[in-house]
Amino acid sequence: MVSDSESKTILDHIAVVVEDLDQGEAFYQSLGLEFDQEREVVPSQGVATSFAPIDWNSSLELLSPLADEGPVYDFIKKRGAGIHHVAFQVPDIHAKCAELKELGHTLLYPEPREGARRRLVNFVHPKSSKGVLVEITQVLAPPEEEDEGESDEGVFKGDSR
Ligand code: ZN
Repeated sequence: MVSDSESKTILDHIAVVVEDLDQGEAFYQSLGLEFDQEREVVPSQGVATSFAPIDWNSSLELLSPLADEGPVYDFIKKRGAGIHHVAFQVPDIHAKCAELKELGHTLLYPEPREGARRRLVNFVHPKSSKGVLVEITQVLAPPEEEDEGESDEGVFKGDSR
């Protein structure tokens, strides 16, 4: 039997565009959120990101443009800081994207791309989703541990489920 998170669509994150990650973090910290130590740069999106867990699965994502260009920079220029997109996690992004296309919705990328935090991502165009930029995301399996020549003896490597 698969757990809910493996079979259902669940909230992954809410993304908010800020001009400055430090200032953005400071506000949400005052609400009680704690940000991950490391920020991540996503070159394919032209942004730096900072994540704070909200509950067992979902996070707040702060986005800030890396340069005075790109879609997130344009977003701030046009609309100011604010909610940028809402991301839903699905078990199989390729299947979900095919399903959405079948229903006549427009996706931003022909194929899912690598996003932050080891995820595959695609977006539903806001024209297809009633004005909200919707991200579809699938968590990729963790990378295989690199073998550094050390003995694995005594380390349980089996599937514990
Ligand atoms: Zn996102």
